[in-house]
Amino acid sequence: MVIYKATVPSVPVPNIDLYSFLFNANEFNQTKDLNKPVTIEGETGRSLTWNQIREKVSYMATGWTENVGLKKGDTVAVFAPNQYDHVILYLSLLGAKCTISPGNPAYTEAEFEHQITNCQASALVTVPALLPVLLKITDKIGLPRSRIFLFGDKQVEGCRPYTSLSGNKPTVTPLQGVDGANDTAFICYSSGTTGLAKGVMLTHKNFIAQVVQTINAEPEEDRLNDDVILGFLPFYHIYGLTSLVLNAFYKVVPVVIMARFDLELLCQLVEKYKVTLASIVPPVAVLLAKAPVVAKYDLTTIRLLGCGAAPLSKEHIESLAKRIPAQLKQGYGMTETTSGVISQSLQGGVPGSIGILSANMECKIVNEHGQELGDDQEGEFLFRGPSIMKGYYNNPKANAETFTEDGWMRTGDVGKYDSKTGEFFILDRIKELIKYKGYQVAPAELEAILMGLDIIADCCVVGLYDESQATEIPRAYVVLQPTVEKSDKTAKVIADYVASNVTNYKKLRGGVKFVDVIPKSPSGKILRRQVKDWVKNEQKKI
Ligand code: AMP
Repeated sequence: MVIYKATVPSVPVPNIDLYSFLFNANEFNQTKDLNKPVTIEGETGRSLTWNQIREKVSYMATGWTENVGLKKGDTVAVFAPNQYDHVILYLSLLGAKCTISPGNPAYTEAEFEHQITNCQASALVTVPALLPVLLKITDKIGLPRSRIFLFGDKQVEGCRPYTSLSGNKPTVTPLQGVDGANDTAFICYSSGTTGLAKGVMLTHKNFIAQVVQTINAEPEEDRLNDDVILGFLPFYHIYGLTSLVLNAFYKVVPVVIMARFDLELLCQLVEKYKVTLASIVPPVAVLLAKAPVVAKYDLTTIRLLGCGAAPLSKEHIESLAKRIPAQLKQGYGMTETTSGVISQSLQGGVPGSIGILSANMECKIVNEHGQELGDDQEGEFLFRGPSIMKGYYNNPKANAETFTEDGWMRTGDVGKYDSKTGEFFILDRIKELIKYKGYQVAPAELEAILMGLDIIADCCVVGLYDESQATEIPRAYVVLQPTVEKSDKTAKVIADYVASNVTNYKKLRGGVKFVDVIPKSPSGKILRRQVKDWVKNEQKKI
């Protein structure tokens, strides 16, 4: 019935490679002082200016080709907490026409191995602390140490610091032979609507579209502000990668980088660097609103908080506003949409909405039969537009399930367009995904681990919403083998077993519940709706 088109004017998306786009002259790098720090390591104060970054990146890019032999299209996996020179690594690899596959440094060995092998990495960059576990994998799969590089300035276990590879001549832009619309700049990992983590191929054009669309949404008078942004979101996740690395560099906005989230350090850094912007997720909004330590610091320099990755309730929005008198702008996006595609306008969104469509984007809302719905009707969001991924890497089945024949991408998210306010709202999720504090937890992964325990006959993992922390938490429903006792002890054995096999944020924080049967369709597919209803009914009783 309706195809929703962006109500803001379209913006042209330059058809070039991302590297040249970031370094070409623009209104920001022509106006701002390029000799002021733009990446600042929060804890140490070490910093780099835009000009220093440009110089280093240009020589590093030729170094990857001349000294390592990387070629166009080679994929380099990167696992590291946020580094002050992350931007140099990423941009130099783009300058060498490589594809970057960034991943979570807190992964377990199995999770690292899945990503490294799945994206077919030809090289890897990490930090010394992760070498022991990564070398086990690379030795096994035959990736030589001459292809493993480190942040920092030390050679460890035969692996060189990546900065030692600098080439002899600068890179020439525009890069020759890069097709911005089709070549993959990053392969990020996301479980999508079902199953395990998959490689999301994002093209140069996807990122360029994201940058121009984001700038287009900003009021003209704020564009050249002397802003400072806080950078604790991980640079491997699409939200941190777009807002803190690419957009910030393009706009010459200084980023105060945090390698890990620490509430008090965050407050200290906001005060010290007079931070004006921060991209946050709902659990951080709750901490900022409630934690006593926040009151010790002056956070009034913050003028704008962007909040995405999960829903934030009206109550939490109100309590945050009492503490930090900044504007709060909620937004919605996915790895597969290269981050935000719907966000509140600064002229004011209705609390709890996700706002309006970004420039150039189209959305439709469909029912379970794929029929298009109209205003105020709840259904699944589908998107089309220049920031939609190219597809999942080497995964025709997932691509066929995710894209319709006429090029719309399914999201697995349920929402509506509200005719009274002219804004979109997210209401539910029909895909399997659970989000713990903004991190993806794939139920299929936890279920596969659980089924590895011989006391378990069947299981299903779903999310449970914890209002106090503004996050979902994973819970397992388990059918035990007939001889096994349903006891707290057994539940603990199961939760501990999962905990020992996954990274911290995937633990079964929602507990383990015993049931007699997991509801299944005649074809054996878990009926997750019914399991989620158990959770809802339990929460209603509380
Ligand atoms: P990721 O790919 O890790 O960014 O996760 C994307 C998913 O996060 C979306 O498909 C949604 O399910 C969820 N999400 C993102 N932003 C919001 C939001 N503002 N409100 C509710 N859910 C969101």
